[in-house]
Amino acid sequence: MPGPVLLAVDDEPECLSALERELGDRYSRDYRIVCTASPEDALTTLEKLAEDGEEVALVLAGQWLPGTTGSELFGKVRRLHPHAKRGLLITWGGWGDPATGEAIFDSMAHGRIDYYVLRPSGSPDEVFHQTISSFLLEWARDTRVAPHTIRVIGEVWSGRAYELRDVLGRCAIPHTFCLADSNSGRNLLAGAGNPRKLPVVIFPDGNVLVDPTDAELAHAAGASVDPEHTDFDLVIVGCGPAGLSAAVYGASEGFSTLVVDDGGIGGQATSSSLIRNYMGFPAGISGGRLAEQAYEQAWVLGAKFALMQKAHELRREGERISVSLSGHSGVQASAVILATGASYRRLGVPELEEMNGAGVFYGGPASEAPGMAGHDVYVLGGANSAGQAALHLARFARRVTLVVRADSLAVRMSHYLAREVQATPNVGVRLCTEIIGGGGEDGWLDHLVLRDMTSGQEETVPAVGLFLMVGAHPHTDWLPAEVSRDPRGFILTGGDLPTPAWPLERNPYGLETSMPGVLAAGDARHGSVKRVASAVGEGSMAIQFLHGLFAADGLERTGPRPQPVS
Ligand SMILES: Cc1cc2nc3c(=O)[nH]c(=O)nc-3n(C[C@H](O)[C@H](O)[C@H](O)COP(=O)(O)OP(=O)(O)OC[C@H]3O[C@@H](n4cnc5c(N)ncnc54)[C@H](O)[C@@H]3O)c2cc1C
Repeated sequence: MPGPVLLAVDDEPECLSALERELGDRYSRDYRIVCTASPEDALTTLEKLAEDGEEVALVLAGQWLPGTTGSELFGKVRRLHPHAKRGLLITWGGWGDPATGEAIFDSMAHGRIDYYVLRPSGSPDEVFHQTISSFLLEWARDTRVAPHTIRVIGEVWSGRAYELRDVLGRCAIPHTFCLADSNSGRNLLAGAGNPRKLPVVIFPDGNVLVDPTDAELAHAAGASVDPEHTDFDLVIVGCGPAGLSAAVYGASEGFSTLVVDDGGIGGQATSSSLIRNYMGFPAGISGGRLAEQAYEQAWVLGAKFALMQKAHELRREGERISVSLSGHSGVQASAVILATGASYRRLGVPELEEMNGAGVFYGGPASEAPGMAGHDVYVLGGANSAGQAALHLARFARRVTLVVRADSLAVRMSHYLAREVQATPNVGVRLCTEIIGGGGEDGWLDHLVLRDMTSGQEETVPAVGLFLMVGAHPHTDWLPAEVSRDPRGFILTGGDLPTPAWPLERNPYGLETSMPGVLAAGDARHGSVKRVASAVGEGSMAIQFLHGLFAADGLERTGPRPQPVS
């Protein structure tokens, strides 16, 4: 029978028959179910399926299998079927067994499993099915077979077709691409009436756009690009985690709220395929999915959005603050939240960019450090943040190596920190060195290629973690001088404001900038933590300060706008 495969391997006969029953009864119409007690048989089947180019959507396995472990088997599954979701089967309460608990922790930390699954008990077991359907939904999203997918057809992968995919990606809209001269491309184009020009975009409702502009595409996909009104209580610039959180809280607390962004939704968070340190998502969540859900939440609470609109001027006009937009005359509000984030310098090594979240991490190691226990890890960067990351990792890893392009730590690191790094026995420093390659057999980083910049000599070293601490540039160049910033351009707020910069008698609110009524949240703010959860926290705090600000400055609220009657 054709169809993607769901494979389960468990040597406990009762569990195996429960798995056969639950998977067969619920999924056999659309998937091929394979259940076996033997890990060798499971591996042979998976190898054969990979050879034949057949899809595997899900593999479930117990940890203690004859002659091997589930974790070992999952390492091989990741290599053979990179998109297959992998669930470690455990019995209820199994997490209390130290060896099983350690296996879950270790497999999660190294990306060998997506999560653990409780073995089915009774029938129907809806807890089991909820886990399985979530896996299948994620698999469908990853492999672009989810329903309501937009299809882009182009002559080549690059150029305008790429830009359109980028717009859809930045709006977190599921989409897929095919070449015009492929079988599926020809079929799709014929169904769309063979348009003369490419690229072509076909929507799930049959609507066809030929070589649309970014705004036309975003609009047709349901993303709002027009502010609808010009007057709001609150305008939020930036639709990343900080802006989305401010939108959810602002709209829910009765402020008429507009969010503008020069791209789509989610900001930098959409670069992360799996955010594992956001509270409430133990199996992790993709940045795109988190943004999509936050956007929906803000929208149903009444926030308005204007995407593909760059804010290029901010000025006070009496009681109101004006924000000029690239594709619109501009909007006015009593308060503005700047949530414009920062661009992280990227490594620019394609094979390592692909391993983002699979051993390669942008930013500090707080949540990943315990998973590095006993391994060799690398930190790229020469500033204080890199030194601190190396010292933190040294408490867990076997050996930490700080890779620095400069010829001395003194160039960018404080003296006290450089001394501590050099005095820590399991921390090494490679000066005048760059990272030029790397990869991993099982889909997780296992080596890096370093180059000595003086001699040009290359060396391959084992590594299971690489933490990139290479700096960020805030999107604040467009702001007026009234908004004080630190020497690197990050916005100063609240207690960090130098006294002469603050023009009013009242004290500034916590996240208020030197321009009264304008607050800043997230990565663009001086002293921010550069994490999704902190950006979200600051977005919600900003709304709390807004209540005080409206009362203190006697600002009037227009309140939520009535929804148009359909
Ligand atoms: C590769 C990568 C992986 C990461 N992984 C994780 C992780 O696993 N866990 C974690 O906690 N953090 C992670 N981070 C960090 C996290 O993504 C950021 O800390 C977070 O996105 C900051 O949110 P923000 O809303 O402040 O800014 P951003 O997410 O940067 O959003 C800012 C938004 O403002 C818009 N904007 C900027 N200027 C203007 C303008 N003039 N007009 C209109 N719009 C404008 C931008 O288009 C952008 O959409 C990762 C970052 C990167 C780069």
